[in-house]
Amino acid sequence: MLDVLKFKSPNVGSTKDKGRIEVKDVSITFGKGSSAHRAVDTTEITIEAGQFVCILGPSGCGKSTLLNAIAGYVKPTEGTLLVDGTEVDKPGPDRGMVFQQYSLLPWKTVYENVAFGPKMAGHSRVEAGSTANTFLELVGLKKFGDRYPAELSGGMQQRVGIARALANYPSVLLMDEPFGALDAQTRLMMQESLLDIWRKFGTTVVFVTHDVDEAVFLADRVLIMSTAPGRIIEDVKIDLPRPRSTDMASSPEYVQARQFCLDTIKAESRKAFENQNS
Ligand code: ADP
Ligand code: MG
Repeated sequence: MLDVLKFKSPNVGSTKDKGRIEVKDVSITFGKGSSAHRAVDTTEITIEAGQFVCILGPSGCGKSTLLNAIAGYVKPTEGTLLVDGTEVDKPGPDRGMVFQQYSLLPWKTVYENVAFGPKMAGHSRVEAGSTANTFLELVGLKKFGDRYPAELSGGMQQRVGIARALANYPSVLLMDEPFGALDAQTRLMMQESLLDIWRKFGTTVVFVTHDVDEAVFLADRVLIMSTAPGRIIEDVKIDLPRPRSTDMASSPEYVQARQFCLDTIKAESRKAFENQNS
């Protein structure tokens, strides 16, 4: 573990063996009766502690709903959802979330944004400050602590968002299309940067995306969801060595995994298109 992460915290040191997620026959329906709408169809997944998993699927297939259920914001209609053997029934500090829209408090400095979680968790001002510095250093933004979010680029704001989520020492980091609003170049840089942060911090990551290249580049496993109502239709193991770099995009393993994911998504989209037109 990185030296700067030796800071005393209730979870630190143990995050590496924590973060096992079990989704057992979970389905999620919004509304009741004639207005009932099934967003996630019966889904069964086990994610091991420390794995980096991408959930890939077309827009509207239920990715965010499934992620929100793991976060504890949405209750499964059927089935159970466990993190480290405990049933998820509400949000908790063991699960950090990063959204596409930067979830920072605009009136607080970068430093205050990251220190906010530990402060809320009851840590002293000094402890919370030390945690904030630790994680700002981890995401390469220690020099920007005094700035306000609006003074930073989109990529930098998302790095603050990651630092903010990690400052609670979560065993699971949930990311919902976190780089979706960034330009292509910044996005590639952020993907490499995230892998570097993950290697040092060692938490389980569940990363939602509709971008095949992003999923294959980042993940140990890509879980492909069907069109709505979503269920996992493929569990693709990505056998690329780590640390990864963007040059790997031309390796045969990458090309093959990418093609398989593309073909699966394409077949799904075609089915949805035909259903809409029949
Ligand atoms: P994705 O993230 O894959 O684009 P979502 O999980 O956001 O898809 O949405 C899946 C489906 O569930 C969509 O049809 C969406 O309109 C519906 N949905 C999502 N959240 C709610 C909600 N809170 N109430 C009712 N319907 C919802
Ligand atoms: Mg979504």
